[in-house]
Amino acid sequence: MAINQNLLLPTWAQHATQQALCEQLLSQRSRWLVTGAAGFIGSNLVETLLMLGQDVRGLDNFATGHQRNLDEVRDRVGAERWRRFSFIEADVRNLSDCTQAVKQIDYVLHQAALGSVPRSVNDPLTSHGVNVTGFLNMLDAARCAQVRRFVYAASSSTYGDEPNLPKREDRIGNPLSPYAVTKLVNEIYAGVYARTYGFESIGLRYFNVFGARQDPAGAYAAVIPKWIAAMLAGKDVEIFGDGETSRDFCYIGNVVQANLRAALQDMTGRSEVYNVAVGGRTTLNQLFEIIRNNMALLGFDYDRQPIYKTPRAGDVRHSQADVSKAQLGLGYVPLFDLKAGMKEALPWYVHLLADVSMQHG
Ligand code: NAD
Repeated sequence: MAINQNLLLPTWAQHATQQALCEQLLSQRSRWLVTGAAGFIGSNLVETLLMLGQDVRGLDNFATGHQRNLDEVRDRVGAERWRRFSFIEADVRNLSDCTQAVKQIDYVLHQAALGSVPRSVNDPLTSHGVNVTGFLNMLDAARCAQVRRFVYAASSSTYGDEPNLPKREDRIGNPLSPYAVTKLVNEIYAGVYARTYGFESIGLRYFNVFGARQDPAGAYAAVIPKWIAAMLAGKDVEIFGDGETSRDFCYIGNVVQANLRAALQDMTGRSEVYNVAVGGRTTLNQLFEIIRNNMALLGFDYDRQPIYKTPRAGDVRHSQADVSKAQLGLGYVPLFDLKAGMKEALPWYVHLLADVSMQHG
């Protein structure tokens, strides 16, 4: 199938720099396991893999993911591609479910985890169970099944109190939250599995990912969907701290690209970690203006000022990635900066939240 005939591919995949990657996938049908498939990042991975003609098994226990995400993927990929998807409702804390899930799988993209620093501060034991025990179950099941590659969601929180910017993979500080500990332990286990068993893996340290299907609801929602939802509902936007905290916001298209590249990258028996971000830095005050301006372009005016609250425990002050290792090692090209990503993401939220408000009256 020629790539330019496949117009339903996400915009990043239609970019000239991505042609070889997409053609490689379109020409070879493999079996993929995506854990956390009903979540934000997982469902976007499932969608792109199906669009690229792959067989995909999803695993999720719907702790924070939603059936509606999978329904949306089904509608977007069409009935024929959707037949190549199967789903296991299971908990990664259950080893036998993980063992079942990896059977006859070529590539594992392990996304299932409990995200959110504040969630882990409020309930460290549950975050540990899912993010550490669940991770080890998946890693070991994948090793025993001899999958070709294990790619997992690592996190920029691993940089902890390391003060230098931009963040380079080989310089980390002390973790500042239980969540950060769980993600660091993932990397340590992945390294030990490479050295002990020769089992190769790639950890992708995501930096504040955003895009369609990121949940805007709940106490632990990420900042971008939470603020969009608040603005659309005419409610206050809350900023923890003075608003000068900064982040390297990364659009989902970049993250999907990095995962596919990590799965297909040649390597032997090693474990590696790569930053997945843009290399930019945006303060929360700037983010507020960017979202507000983009909302105005869509006809939604928001005239309130943010409410500043005390900083949250566990939050890192500044974050900005050096993405050169991923560029060199994976051929990763961050195609979307915050503004370009926001233009793609915002219409999705406007539709979703307009639907929800219509359903509630
Ligand atoms: P998400 O909450 O939308 O997705 C996580 C998915 O994992 C959900 O569908 C959830 O139901 C599932 N899950 C949770 N516990 C599970 C369990 N015990 N068994 C099976 N499934 C389970 O979050 P996301 O933003 O898509 O995050 C995906 C991964 O990326 C996570 O590992 C997260 O820690 C990591 N990450 C995300 C970001 C970000 O900015 N979104 C940043 C760094 C790292």
